[in-house]
Amino acid sequence: MKQRTIAKSVEIVGIGLHKGVPVKMRLEPLEANMGIIFYRSDEGITIPLQIENVVDTKMATVIGKDGVIISTIEHLLSAVYAYGIDNLRVVLDNDEIPVLDGSSSGYCMLIEEAGIKELEASKKAIKVKKEVEVTTKEGKRVALKPSNHIIYDFSIDFEHPAIGQQAFRFDYSIEEYKENISRARTFGFLHEVQYLRSIGLALGGSMENAIVLDNTKILNPEGLRYDDEFVRHKILDAIGDMALLGYTLVGEYDAHAGSHHLNHLLTKKLYESEENYEIIDLEEADEESKVFQTAYARA
Ligand SMILES: [Zn+2]
Repeated sequence: MKQRTIAKSVEIVGIGLHKGVPVKMRLEPLEANMGIIFYRSDEGITIPLQIENVVDTKMATVIGKDGVIISTIEHLLSAVYAYGIDNLRVVLDNDEIPVLDGSSSGYCMLIEEAGIKELEASKKAIKVKKEVEVTTKEGKRVALKPSNHIIYDFSIDFEHPAIGQQAFRFDYSIEEYKENISRARTFGFLHEVQYLRSIGLALGGSMENAIVLDNTKILNPEGLRYDDEFVRHKILDAIGDMALLGYTLVGEYDAHAGSHHLNHLLTKKLYESEENYEIIDLEEADEESKVFQTAYARA
């Protein structure tokens, strides 16, 4: 299997979730072995997608360099990763990715508009060899386990009548991603939104780009896109956060009540010891290669 980029440049304008100002984003093809590279055209700063460049994971995954940041990269990266794109330049004229409708389906459409181009170089993947996990006192847990497949398993338990317990196991393929994951929107609670706005965040947030809940119910008049949209969005986020590994993941991601912060700690922990992982070449590794070829077949 070969590395991928997009076939042509595509552009979109939208507002950022936190500042609420318009931002123009252009996706450009890149050569093999370049990885995912962000560029702030207004600042002239290049920020490669690397774990070391993660500067904040509280509300969203944020990367930065020399004091210049790009916020809320996870939904775009989720779509980029889902389509198996290894090399891409993302040009932005402000500090946030346009949030669109709060899911990744708009980015999927943008990637399909651009088209996918195979490059000459062989695709690499990171294979989990030994289980690593990060846990918290409150019982939150994220883990990466060995598997020849690409699995994302997530459960949540919110003391809220509209959410409650939800679990979803996603056996990766691009078709399944588009159908069952990509349309799941981010969500927020009204009291949090009010607090965030008071400190100058979530200014672009609305029912246009998030599911908003009060203490008892969902406020969006259109309701949910999936009965368990909340846990599906958590999987969407996790796929985007695992893109920080720099290679396609071969293994099982397993989480209960995970977050961007725990995902970041997990990617760092995997890289702490070479016993935990190996980098494989998907032109050579037959079994894994078959999994990917099936998974990406119709992308
Ligand atoms: Zn999200």
